[in-house]
Amino acid sequence: MVRLYIPQPLSPGAALAPTPEQSRYLTQVMRLKAGDDLLVFNGREGEWRCSVAEVLKRGCLLKAEERVREQILPPDVELILAVVKKSPLEFAVEKATELGARRIRLVRTARTQPQTIRLDRLETIAVESAEQTGRMDVPEIVASGPLDALLDGWDPDRRLMFCDETGGPPALTALPAAGGAPWGILIGPEGGFSSGERDRLRALPFTTAVSLGPRVLRADTASVTALTLWQATLGDWPR
Ligand code: SAH
Repeated sequence: MVRLYIPQPLSPGAALAPTPEQSRYLTQVMRLKAGDDLLVFNGREGEWRCSVAEVLKRGCLLKAEERVREQILPPDVELILAVVKKSPLEFAVEKATELGARRIRLVRTARTQPQTIRLDRLETIAVESAEQTGRMDVPEIVASGPLDALLDGWDPDRRLMFCDETGGPPALTALPAAGGAPWGILIGPEGGFSSGERDRLRALPFTTAVSLGPRVLRADTASVTALTLWQATLGDWPR
């Protein structure tokens, strides 16, 4: 069944207006007609069976019928990714959404290449990935500025999985040893971390430095690998 993210209030009988792109997708690509069903979530009120109420010349209207799943949120893990080139960045956002990252922060580090970030484009990728993967929220994407400032204001109750390409204990054993709580996962840029950044990160009390194996991974692969290891040890996979 078609599944759409529409951030409007959901209650029995509520009228919903999809965006023009969503309307086109529903009526022209999926060829839904008045009376046909689809699934809608808004990130707050669970997943709803909705029906097409009316197909208009431009767009369509939907009606919320009944809630079919209660709202659940993924475990509180955020991916903190140094800005990399457009295509690995888009890949990382899509895959982090599939892998259940609650939030995605983009940071600048000593070796980040200057680059404009199209947040709107990344948000669209996250929405489409969330629709497809069955989750009931869309990860928030935040431009968080310089890494140093993010660390200055860090909540000490949130642990930080520092993915260090120069080595460290294997993530598979280091994560369970560090234990529960909300987490962040930090991935560096193409050029890696500077020695100053590495020294600071390793000295912070909330950091767990880990290795993702003996090969140097690209930032997009490292994001997928780190989230996989986190979900498998501390996240919702074992539940
Ligand atoms: N240019 C660097 C590699 C950077 S890879 C070099 O050649 O050493 C980009 C980021 O992915 C790294 O900063 C790190 O956060 C993560 N990463 C890649 N491979 C890793 C590994 N084997 N262990 C831990 N982190 C890794």
